[in-house]
Amino acid sequence: MSVAHRTLECPVFSQLLPKKSKSRAWEHFGLPANESGQIVSQDIAVCKLCWSPVSAKSGSTSNLFGHLRFHHPLKFSKVSNKSKVVADSAIFSILCCC
Ligand SMILES: [Zn+2]
Repeated sequence: MSVAHRTLECPVFSQLLPKKSKSRAWEHFGLPANESGQIVSQDIAVCKLCWSPVSAKSGSTSNLFGHLRFHHPLKFSKVSNKSKVVADSAIFSILCCC
């Protein structure tokens, strides 16, 4: 019924709250929250490294890892190595280019 807004606008927030998640991707992301600590968007994570909003619908971390892999490959290799994330061959190509 409502038109899904596809553009990922960075929500207005005054702080980033850590997400309680086992995924190490969240080490570099936070949930945008207002001054009183209320999360303003559950579906958007904000990258602490470049302050870009990244879609994290239903706690999905695939976009978070995708963001790290594309924008912060060094951070990505760190969080993906130590976690039990299924390694894909792209990780190795990134390591090779560093
Ligand atoms: Zn980033």
